[in-house]
Amino acid sequence: MKAVTWHGRHDMRVEDVPDPKILRPKDAIIKVTSAAICGSDLHIYNGHIMGMKAGDIMGHETMGEVVEVGPGVKEFKPGDRAVVAFNVACGECFFCKRRLFSACDNSNLNAELTEKVFGHAPGGIFGYSHPFGGYAGGQAQYLRVPYADTTMLKVPHGPPDEQLLFLSDILPTGYMGAEFCEPEPGDTVAVWGAGPVGQMAIRSLKMLGAERIIVIDNVPDRLRLAAEAGCETLNYDEIDIPEALRDMTAGIGPDRCLDAVGMEAHGTGVMDAVDKVKQRLKLETDRPAVLREIIMCCRKGGTVSLLGVYAGFIDKLNWGIAFNKGLQFRMGQTPVMHYAPMLLKAVLEGEVDPSIIISHKIALDDTPKAYDLFDKKEITKAVIFPNGQPATDRLDAAATETKQANLRA
Ligand code: NAD
Ligand code: ZN
Repeated sequence: MKAVTWHGRHDMRVEDVPDPKILRPKDAIIKVTSAAICGSDLHIYNGHIMGMKAGDIMGHETMGEVVEVGPGVKEFKPGDRAVVAFNVACGECFFCKRRLFSACDNSNLNAELTEKVFGHAPGGIFGYSHPFGGYAGGQAQYLRVPYADTTMLKVPHGPPDEQLLFLSDILPTGYMGAEFCEPEPGDTVAVWGAGPVGQMAIRSLKMLGAERIIVIDNVPDRLRLAAEAGCETLNYDEIDIPEALRDMTAGIGPDRCLDAVGMEAHGTGVMDAVDKVKQRLKLETDRPAVLREIIMCCRKGGTVSLLGVYAGFIDKLNWGIAFNKGLQFRMGQTPVMHYAPMLLKAVLEGEVDPSIIISHKIALDDTPKAYDLFDKKEITKAVIFPNGQPATDRLDAAATETKQANLRA
């Protein structure tokens, strides 16, 4: 089969690789009908995630048709349609029983690699390095899904992939971030990052009744999507964000602050230059510009909801300020299957339409180019059709320019 493989920083390739096989009784094999590139994949693309090996298959946002199941799979049979959660979850351990599926204690087959550094190993993630289990990812024609009964969500035939695919990650992630905020009437919620995750968080905040949402980014297309959802928007290239937020909240600051940016945040000034050099030299894993700004901006006693991925060690974090302001922090890799069944219902009933963020539908062969354009924020969200389904967008320069112009019109 064909798959997108990692070969180093800014080096993704489409290659022929062996087809996946059933290895354990609870495995299923799916024929991938669609997959997506996530902002989390960019952290690998840009060389910030340790423990990748040349040839590793990328991708953790995947759905498809079940073609084969092992003898231990009870909930699925060939022909079923399934969305695959990004976390591999056994469904039976201490953590899965508490619905903390991203903390599964059985699915990370390389737990010893991470335990020494993290204290406890996180669960396995598809296509996300060997310290996260070393699983082949779903930017491919076929995918092996371990613990299929608890790692996949059965979805009905009928609605297009575009509406269901994001149940694999970004819709549950956005919803978790919104839930962390517990928006109350009168609250102002500020969201840093209007990328795919920020967009899902905004729509989830609306579902949970948030009244006032202020969205911060510097990409006009993304801010426009946020404005269309009824948010106020701030472009950090044009104004000073802490000052603007103070002005907009009578000096108090936003009640809830949501980080949908993470470890590759753009910063400014000397601190940003130092962070960039340290991150490249592996002296610091993450660039925490947004996290620092949130700590400065959030109102005293407010809530900080962190969805943006952080990988390890952060320098010069204004932790004492967070302490003295009495901020509450909630964060983590999303336990997708905790939220996905409820969100499937919301999608089918038309309460939320995640497909509105899709800017490009592409063939598998164009995926390396799509990584580059997504990294440059010229793509809002690309969906890949690896088995010949309609890929309507070509990614040569002229096509991309026309597409962007149409989006702006
Ligand atoms: P993305 O890279 O497309 O979006 C990030 C956005 O942040 C971009 O639009 C960028 O312009 C903006 N940004 C950068 N610096 C900023 C700043 N200083 N202020 C405001 N905005 C800034 O990625 P995405 O797919 O939307 O993902 C966002 C984050 O969520 C990533 O870190 C990703 O790894 C993470 N994520 C977490 C989970 C989870 O389980 N918690 C799941 C999926 C994604
Ligand atoms: Zn993701």
